[in-house]
Formats: sequence, structure tokens, C-alpha cells
Amino acid sequence: MSGKIANITAAEFENEVLKGKNVVVDFYSTECPPCEALASKYEGLSEIYGDDIKFIKIFRQENKELAVSLGVSSSPTLLFYKDGQMVGERLSGGIKRADIVKNFELILDSERAEELKKSAKSSETECDVLILGAGPAGLTAGIYSAQAKLNTIIVDKDLPGGQVKVTHMVSNFPGFEEPISGYMLMHHMSEQAKGAGVNFRSAVDVTKIDLVNKIVEVDGVESIKAKKIIIATGSSPRNLGVKGEVENKGRGISYCATCDAKFYEGKHVIVIGGGNSAIEEALFITKFASKVTIVHQFDKLQANKIAQEKAFANPKIEFVFEHEPREFRRNGNSVNEVVVEDLKTKTLKTLSCDGVFIFAGMKPNLDEFIGDLKLDNWGYVSVDPAMKTNLDDIFAVGDVAGKRYRQITTAVADGTIAAITVSKELED
Ligand SMILES: Cc1cc2nc3c(=O)[nH]c(=O)nc-3n(C[C@H](O)[C@H](O)[C@H](O)COP(=O)(O)OP(=O)(O)OC[C@H]3O[C@@H](n4cnc5c(N)ncnc54)[C@H](O)[C@@H]3O)c2cc1C
Repeated sequence: MSGKIANITAAEFENEVLKGKNVVVDFYSTECPPCEALASKYEGLSEIYGDDIKFIKIFRQENKELAVSLGVSSSPTLLFYKDGQMVGERLSGGIKRADIVKNFELILDSERAEELKKSAKSSETECDVLILGAGPAGLTAGIYSAQAKLNTIIVDKDLPGGQVKVTHMVSNFPGFEEPISGYMLMHHMSEQAKGAGVNFRSAVDVTKIDLVNKIVEVDGVESIKAKKIIIATGSSPRNLGVKGEVENKGRGISYCATCDAKFYEGKHVIVIGGGNSAIEEALFITKFASKVTIVHQFDKLQANKIAQEKAFANPKIEFVFEHEPREFRRNGNSVNEVVVEDLKTKTLKTLSCDGVFIFAGMKPNLDEFIGDLKLDNWGYVSVDPAMKTNLDDIFAVGDVAGKRYRQITTAVADGTIAAITVSKELED
């Protein structure tokens, strides 16, 4: 730990924090991946700001009473103090460097804050393999690559785990007889990658991606040059942008029927959409749900004829045409109401349900760095059977790559293929 960080107990809090001038306090725990992701950022910042701001660490498990009295209920949590008063926004979870710096700007006078910000020196790191994205595809590539003794770095904007870490239960990943929580599955995968020797840069801002020169910059302060880059940035469901959608993701709002339909045995589900995937997924959901209401903005479906015929013939499916969702409401743990607007009359009505599936399409996470990457007709990265892209030494794996099925198992397979190819090429 840097000489500019002091580890204190609750007994010292008053003197060190409340009677101090400018202070930042990190409530941390052991066995805490987000705390580990924060540690190197905290240390780096203490080297820059440590003469102006006191950097404190408090072990939360041993100072529970103090933590509770300050409303700190998760690790890590950062609190910022100026002249004994808490200021700024408390930060927790996957804490980004830039958000910490923003809070420092509230503590310090603006000129000094600017001077210190500019004094941050950029460092340069070299590695064999840089993997963008720590979902199942990236983590698997990391495990294989590190086990092949390649110097491997995984960079993720978020904490490791990808889409799966927010998936309630996973029942189709081989090796687990009982459904496993998505969070735990990804925890095991990222611990395995760490154990294999992968270095992580998690919850960072990816400030530059140069695929031609194979350089990735994180947080504007570290430039990483790699011999090979594996893109594993996944895809994201297209959001409808409707009130209550983002906050209820995983709480009754799902974007994957294969994954979640089984949790709606005998229940009433609302499906939003009328294209191929919406109708095919709605048909799949009827294997479990007792009733499926399809809400679609147009007066007819856009899905192919066969899917439409099957849907119209299915007694469990009913249709609400020319309506759009305006709000998803939750009572307790799961969404139970959808407010929809009749597009003809402009009137609102409320539909009750046990859950909602949204099929407004997916989009690959590529926006910041498409450059000269060749894409397929659907906008995903074109790859050959070895997961190579059209650019030298650049691979793409998992949901971001062009393919027919997007599941954890297919992501893991892609990561394996790319990493084995990479290690063979680097050996040669
Ligand atoms: C709600 C839901 C439930 C699902 N349930 C199941 C299931 O039960 N079983 C199953 O097999 N599949 C399931 N799936 C599908 C499965 O989650 C995906 O197929 C799988 O996660 C793809 O893995 P990936 O590593 O390619 O991408 P992701 O899991 O999407 O991971 C991509 C990672 O890249 C990071 N990233 C994005 N952009 C950047 C960038 N510019 N720089 C750095 N990092 C970046 C993201 O933060 C993320 O961590 C589900 C999907 C959803 C949405």
C-alpha cells in the first residue's frame, strides 16, 4: 500500500476524518472483487493527490458500527469530507477513477484540482494478449491465454462478469446440476482467470482503442500495447427507453426467453415486439407461461408467415396491436404492471402481468472502435473459424462476433478457439 494511505479504525475516525481538512475514506472488505478493482486506482490517486487530500482506509467488517452509523452498507464505499462535512456523491460498487477525481474537484480549490489533474503521468504497459471485455468469452480467452503462460490483460468498463452477472439463474451451463446464479457463475470464472495469472483493469474508462497499432488506453493514464487483441465486448439489448425499464432489468424484465422463460411456469407474461424474435420467443414462452400477451406497435406482426400462423393458432397467446409501452411498474421484487398507450386513441391503460420480455433487437458493443473492422450484414464482427477478424492480430469472440446463436456456451467456445489460436501464433 502507498505510504500516502492510512489504515485506521473507528476509534480514530473523529481525529483523522472529522477533524481533518480534505479527506477521502474507503470502506473496504476482504474477498471483495470491486474492492480489488478500486485498490490500484486509490493507490495511484494517492500518489498524485496525497499531499492535499488525506487518503484513509477503514476495514468495514471490523468497524461495522461506524459503517452502519454512516449508512455504509456495501464495500467498497468511498466518502469525501471537507472540514469535517461529508461532500459530493458517495461512490460504491465498480468505482471509476474519473468519478473519484470529480469528487476531489469539490474538495480542492479549482486551480489546484486542475494542476493536480494535469500532473497525472501516463504509464506504458506491454503484454502478449489484451482482451477487451470480461464476460464469459473474454474470461475464457483469458484463462486459456494465461495458462499458456502469455502475459494477459483483460480490460472491462465494468466489473467482470458481463451480461451473465446480472442474470438471475443459469440452468444451461454444463457442470451444474442445479441452476446457478449468474453472479456466482461469473464470480467463479473471473476467480479462475485471476488464479491463472490474468491481470485485470476493471471498472475503467476505455479512453482509446487503436486496433491498427494494438494500443488500448485506460482512464487516460495507462497505455497498454499488446501483440494480439481479442475483442469480447458482447452485445446489449436495445432498450425501449421506457420509464422503469432499466431499473427493473432482471426484476421481471428480461431480454432472453431461452434463459428466463422457465421461471414463469403457469404465469402471465407480456412480450413487447412483433418481429421474428419476439414471436418465436413468445411461442417458446408458452411452453411455460399460462398466458402470453404480445404488445405490438403496428396493426400486424412483422414476423415470418409460419411463426405468425403458429402464434395466431396458439390459445395461450393474445395480441394487443397498435399499443406501445409507456411505463413498467414493480410491486415488490418483480414487475407486475405495464402501462401501454393506444396509439390510435392516445389513451393509457394498465395491463397486469408476472413478467415482461422485451425483444427490440440486440446491438453489438462496438460503437467506440469499429474503424476498419469488417462487419456482417447484421452489424456484428465478421470472423473466420479461428475467430480472426479482417485486421491483423485482432480476434473477435462471443456475442460481438457474427454467428447464429448467442449463449454462454457459445461465447466460452469462441474464447477458447481464439486463445488457442493466439498462443499457437505467438509460439511460432
Ligand atoms: C437477461 C439475459 C439472460 C441470459 N441468460 C442466459 C442463460 O441463462 N444462459 C445462456 O447460455 N445465455 C444467457 N444469456 C446470453 C449470454 O448472457 C450471452 O450470450 C453471453 O453473456 C455473451 O458473453 P460475451 O462474453 O460475449 O459478452 P457479455 O457477457 O456481454 O460481456 C461483454 C463484456 O464486455 C464489456 N465491454 C463492453 N464494451 C466494452 C469496451 N468498449 N471496452 C471494454 N469492455 C467492454 C462489458 O462491460 C461486458 O462485461 C442471457 C442474456 C441476457 C441478456
